Amino acid sequence: MDFIKKNLSEIQSKIKFYAEKYNRNNILLIAVSKTFPIEYIKEVYNYGIRDFAENKAQELRIKAQELKDLDINWHFIGRIQTNKIKYIVPVAKYIHSVYREKEIQEIDRIAKKYNKTQKILIELNVSGEETKGGITEKDLKNLLDFSMNFENIEVVGLMTMAPYTDNEDIIKNVFIKLKNLRDEYSKYYPNLKELSMGMSNDYHIAIESGSTMLRIGSSIFGKRYYKEGE
Ligand SMILES: *Cc1c(COP(=O)(O)O)cnc(C)c1O
Repeated sequence: MDFIKKNLSEIQSKIKFYAEKYNRNNILLIAVSKTFPIEYIKEVYNYGIRDFAENKAQELRIKAQELKDLDINWHFIGRIQTNKIKYIVPVAKYIHSVYREKEIQEIDRIAKKYNKTQKILIELNVSGEETKGGITEKDLKNLLDFSMNFENIEVVGLMTMAPYTDNEDIIKNVFIKLKNLRDEYSKYYPNLKELSMGMSNDYHIAIESGSTMLRIGSSIFGKRYYKEGE
């Protein structure tokens, strides 16, 4: 699996390059391991990465169980099915893709059982594409206020996906909008610090725009061959 070592060091040096170029620090690299086998995760772990992300509850649950002896911070980044939250909360340090009131209620309920405060990010659909999850800007304040009612929830940031385009100006516009929302709302919600944005194709734009959490899959693990589903 030499290709993983090569891929990882390449993406790490590029991240470093852009971080220096744009005068940024404290950017977390999250390795998106969805669809990839346990052996790949172990390999990346051995090179020092501690943060991994999955987008399906069952897959997260199985991988977290198999790797329970490693010191991994798990991130959940997929579409949330409310009835599967019980599999996510026990293992996830962060849940990035929260945007419905009923998800927040259920996360809080399960987090209580495990005596933990669940860190979540609120997903925004900045570009307005219909296929994407997330709330629009106008609903953000309401959802933040709603979240404040739950003792076992801590909203630590905002997450978004770039629109499906090669046009870097459009992508940058979306990322800057998310950053501006974070800057504005963190005055009233001081825990709102993180910006989860940037994937293999647009991480450089995300770094420039203030991302604190990059979600990188294929640049580390290679092409995903089987269906990702929801
Ligand atoms: C798959 C996925 C990623 C990683 O995408 P790559 O293009 O492989 O880097 C990031 N974020 C989310 C929400 C994903 O589903």
